[in-house]
Amino acid sequence: MTLTESELLAKVPTQLYIAGKWIAGHGKNPISVEDPATGKTLLQIANANSTDGLAALTAADEASAAWAKVSPRERSDILRRAFELVKARSEEFAMLISLEMGKPIAEARGEVAYGNEFLRWFSEEAVRISGRYGSSPEGTGRMLVTQRPVGPAFAITPWNFPLAMATRKIGPALAAGCTIVIKPAELTPLTTLLLTAVFEEAGLPAGVLNVITTSTSAETSAPIISDSRLRKITFTGSTSVGVRLLEQSAKQVLRTSMELGGNAPFLVFEDADLDAAVDGAMLAKLRNIGQACTAANRFIVHESLADEFANRMAKRMEEMPLGRGVNPDTKIGPVINEKARENLKRLVDATVSEGGEILTGGTYVSGDGYFFAPTVLTNVKPGSTILNEEIFGPVAPIVRFKDEDEAIRLANDTVYGLVSYAYTQDLKRGLRLIERLDTGMTGLNTGLVSNAAAPFGGVKQSGLGREGGLEGIHEYLETKYVMIPDPSL
Ligand code: NAD
Repeated sequence: MTLTESELLAKVPTQLYIAGKWIAGHGKNPISVEDPATGKTLLQIANANSTDGLAALTAADEASAAWAKVSPRERSDILRRAFELVKARSEEFAMLISLEMGKPIAEARGEVAYGNEFLRWFSEEAVRISGRYGSSPEGTGRMLVTQRPVGPAFAITPWNFPLAMATRKIGPALAAGCTIVIKPAELTPLTTLLLTAVFEEAGLPAGVLNVITTSTSAETSAPIISDSRLRKITFTGSTSVGVRLLEQSAKQVLRTSMELGGNAPFLVFEDADLDAAVDGAMLAKLRNIGQACTAANRFIVHESLADEFANRMAKRMEEMPLGRGVNPDTKIGPVINEKARENLKRLVDATVSEGGEILTGGTYVSGDGYFFAPTVLTNVKPGSTILNEEIFGPVAPIVRFKDEDEAIRLANDTVYGLVSYAYTQDLKRGLRLIERLDTGMTGLNTGLVSNAAAPFGGVKQSGLGREGGLEGIHEYLETKYVMIPDPSL
């Protein structure tokens, strides 16, 4: 049975979760969580201060030794139970994501399926942590290599994928035998709170997962990061905050995983299947209303196709209904807040003053909420401001190129290196591009790369480490090597 919005919100816990208990926060005022489609408050929730943050770390530290000893099968079973519970409640999670973040309900359902897959994937990986045993090259000793949990981890997540960014960290941490404190973004914390209730129901022991919601992220996080009981920090968010956290982590030489910003190039070659390229472009640009680290940020299109490509994208964008995400007809929701909308306007205006043209959109949509018209910008000049920044909204700048070398030079001309997309039907060119594009991931003839079974992550200023895939659990494991003399001597 589908719940009404108020019935759903009444089910969401509003307190901190520390040592297996829901408790009040000691921060100044409660946090008001807003619906970005209306600007109205959905719920008020607890606000943690630094004392609460350290209490959460104490809980994670105290539960750490016992959780590391829980058998891999039992850890796996708990994750699997959480997966089944989220699946059974997928409509509730989808509605909550859509309400607090604004994405269309169909996309929110997609996030639930994708995000929940990390719980299933890592429930499977929990029982496959392995090591090796072999002879030293001289034959005089035996070398044993084993893996053990890093220890208490601190996870900080962004607002744009409220479920998937949490499960992508909680899943591998728990599977590896690490306890965790998670701090969701203050703009969209409700989904993490509902997920925590699921873990409680799945039988997760007290202290293994602790949740702090706070409006004072820097002040509440800093003492946790400088506390010697913490062994790992895992962050998803902007590069500027990631750099700051790396600086803080350096003092304790913490293990770090950083999933940071992106500036994805989307290349369309003269031999591309144009229909497929436009479909891929719409997906890569407008998924999450353009607010994804993987969002196509720069369309780099061969000059022979650039006008046709731009016109087709503009037409498709003009046909997409804007609205509140929970309305089933909505194809594009609002951006997250007024600041995000102002940033889009600034980037569009800069592009025009630098010689680009607006083919469609370029403006605010009047009325409630933070809506921005889907926008195509053509004849954007290399070096324009918009090509150097993460746009984070439904704005598509199109740059022309003449040959492959120029396309690759333009694509790699950024400090970021998360993902690239390329459309070509020439197999050899496709293989060349994979080798020459400086990104951690490439979508070859597709606009979507995310998958729980794949190692997600970037190079350059897009981050350190990988989430998901066979690699994901290793972010939470330390290698231990043991030397043993040859037992026959
Ligand atoms: P943000 O960096 O502003 O915030 C991310 C998180 O960090 C939030 O929880 C925030 O409260 C917290 N935070 C901010 N300052 C902090 C500080 N000084 N100490 C501790 N915590 C702090 O990013 P955002 O606006 O929430 O998310 C958008 C950004 O995230 C974009 O740059 C996007 O590319 C990136 N992102 C990256 C990935 C990826 O996997 N690479 C995925 C999603 C989003």
